[in-house]
Formats: sequence, structure tokens, C-alpha cells
Amino acid sequence: MRRITFFGATGSIGQSALDLVARDLDHYDVVALTGGRNVAQLAKDARALNADLAVTCYPECYAELKDLLADTNVEVAAGGEAIVEAASRPVDWALSAIVGAAGLVPGLEALAHGTTLALANKESLVTAGPLLLGRAKAHGATVLPVDSEHSAVFQALVGEHMAAVERVIITASGGAFRDWPIEKLATATLAEASSHPNWDMGQRITIDSASMFNKAMELIETKEFFGVPPEMIEVLVHRESLIHALVGFNDGALMAHVGPPDMRHAIGYALHWPERQHLPVERLDLGKIGQLTFEAPDQARYPALGIAKDVMATGGLSGAVFNAAKEQALDGFIAGDIGFLDMSTVVAKTLEKMSSGDGLQSQAITLDSVLETDRLARIYAAEAMKNLG
Ligand code: NDP
Ligand code: MG
Repeated sequence: MRRITFFGATGSIGQSALDLVARDLDHYDVVALTGGRNVAQLAKDARALNADLAVTCYPECYAELKDLLADTNVEVAAGGEAIVEAASRPVDWALSAIVGAAGLVPGLEALAHGTTLALANKESLVTAGPLLLGRAKAHGATVLPVDSEHSAVFQALVGEHMAAVERVIITASGGAFRDWPIEKLATATLAEASSHPNWDMGQRITIDSASMFNKAMELIETKEFFGVPPEMIEVLVHRESLIHALVGFNDGALMAHVGPPDMRHAIGYALHWPERQHLPVERLDLGKIGQLTFEAPDQARYPALGIAKDVMATGGLSGAVFNAAKEQALDGFIAGDIGFLDMSTVVAKTLEKMSSGDGLQSQAITLDSVLETDRLARIYAAEAMKNLG
């Protein structure tokens, strides 16, 4: 029996992961499930999977969750500290699928206990990559990528030497507005930005796909996870979302990972790694699909990509500023306070403001410095939103 825990169990990634595990319950001992406001789902899954513990991050949701699980043996807890406590419980494998920087501390805690961490929460790598990977190394823990592009790169690298890698290409669908005239982007509404042409995902990452902030995050994620220099990482627009990434080697070969746009593939790969096991995903019929298309990204349409390049060049704590400002700007767009294109303006202004002096590059990346940088970046981003005019 493998002991497993799911952080962000009620979300899009969490639910896909639970779907895989629920098909094969004889092999798993579910230790903890964590969620947020969706306590009905959390209670339902904790009951069905016979979890030891169910945690909501919101203390105000505790009573409802407790009530829903009153007739079971599932222990119930609430709040950020309870999630960290859940992360300290010994397991063999944990899924990090909380959305946002809130995923960082539980991930660090799990790694400190030697847990193999399947990482969907890209924000923790963008915010504090060296801290997270350093923690894993110090405790002999493994971090496995779940983001589809990074899982694809990881799979293309099996049996290869990093010294032979010349470039890493991650693909992007182009998001909801790939065919819109650029002039129209400023008027994009929340509903329009919340639908993705190929993937079914949580709302925040779907909007980030429309703005390409998701791909911007993934550029930084690639640099941090694989330790490749920024100039070796490229983005390629590939509308069909079937090739997730390509790795270019020094003999001219390009190894492409092709798979259906179903996150259960990448989650399942991380769940069964280092083996492959049968997964209930679509088998692609390339003869029917007929053709795959590729385009270089239009930098003017996607300013987030340029910002990510600057962040990679600066390094240090700039990833923490970038992520926090992006989260704050996204909150502003979702609340209707700022427009679609204002998001990149807010992130760029926050980075500019916090880059004066040499603080971002020279300060050590510790949990304290990261959390303080995150806090300040949110304040500056809120100011930048007010001053948009
Ligand atoms: P969702 O919004 O669907 O789910 C997020 C999960 O986190 C939910 O369980 C939610 O609880 C919980 N949550 C929200 N806020 C907090 C908080 N402050 N503290 C603790 N838990 C919280 O997101 P996704 O599943 O789409 O994404 C999860 C992560 O995976 C993100 O980092 C995303 O970038 C990444 N990812 C997602 C992909 C996808 O296909 N969806 C693909 C690649 C990466 P509740 O819903 O109950 O409130
Ligand atoms: Mg991705």
C-alpha cells in the first residue's frame, strides 16, 4: 500500500489525480486531502477514499466540513497551519496542486519529511525554485513535474545527459485570444478569458493561458526545474496542444513528447514513476488528426513572455515579485478592477519598482525573504493598479 496525500484535492488537478487513484484503491492508503471552499467535494472524496484527514484552508469552513463527516472516522481540520501539519504526516507520495504561492509552504514541509512531491503548483518553483529544490536535496526527497510541458521534457530526458541538451522548447496553445486582433485585447472580458480552446483547467490558469502569463511562468519553471540557462529555453505556439514540449540535442535530434490534452497523463506519469502503467487517457489517432501546426509567438501580443525573460535574467527574488504581482493583478482582473492588458502593465511596474537598488538579485532566497518579498510585491502591485489612470 502506498501512502499518499493530495494538496488541492478539490481543484481541477486534484480531481484528475483522485480519479486515477479511485480506480485502484487497493493499492493506496490515502492519508490527507486538502481543499478550500468546496467542502462538499472534499467531504465526498474523503469519505469515498477513506482518508485519515480532511483539511480546508479556511477556518470559517471548518464547521460545515466537520458536520459533513460527522458519521465517519475522518479527522477534520482547518487553516493554513493545519495544511502544513498534514504535510508533516509521513507518506510515500504527495500531490502539490494548491493554486498560487499558498502551495509553497506545504510543499517545503512535505519535502522536509522526504516525501516524493508531484508538483503541479508551478508558483512555488517560480517564487522560490532554489529553496524548494534545495530542500528536496537536503532531505533526499524527489520532486516530479506535473505541469504537462515539464513532464514532457522530463520524459524526453530519460536516459539522456544534460550536457547534450542544446535547447528546450515548450509549446503554448496561444490561449483564448490567439486569433483576436491585438487592438481588441484591451476589451477582453472575464468570461471571454475564462475559456480555453483545448484544456479544461481551473479559472486562474485558464486566464493565465489567455494572457500567456502561464507560459511565462513555465519558462521560469523550466529554468528552475531543469537548471537550463534562459537562452536555451523557447516557446512555440502549437494550436493543437498535442506536442507538449521538445528537447533539442547536440546531434541535431529533437525529441518531442506527444500526448492527449488530458492532465491525467502527466499526473499518472508522476504517480507511477519511474515505471509506466496503463492510464485511462485517449489514444491519439495521428492519421485522423492529419496535421500539427507551429508558429513563433508574437511578442507584441504576449508581453508576459518578455517580462519572464527579464525575470530569468535577474534571478534571485525577482521570481517571487513576478508571481505575487501576477497573482494580485489576476485578482484585480477577476474582480473587474483592471482590464486584461493592465495585468502585464501591473506586473512590469511592480518589478520595476522593486528592482531599484540591488535587493532582488543579492538577497539570499530564504523562506523569510521570499514571504517578505511576496508581501511587498502584492502591496506595490495594488498601488500600481490604483495608479493605472
Ligand atoms: P483550481 O483552482 O482548480 O484548484 C486549486 C485548489 O487549491 C483547490 O483545491 C482549492 O480549494 C485550493 N486552494 C485555493 N486557494 C487555496 C489556499 N489559499 N490555500 C490552500 N488551498 C487553496 O486550480 P488547478 O487545479 O487548475 O491548478 C492547481 C495548480 O496546478 C496551479 O498551480 C496550476 O498552475 C497548476 N496546473 C494546473 C493545470 C490544470 O490543468 N488545471 C495544468 C498545469 C499546472 P477549493 O477549490 O476547495 O476552494
Ligand atoms: Mg502547462
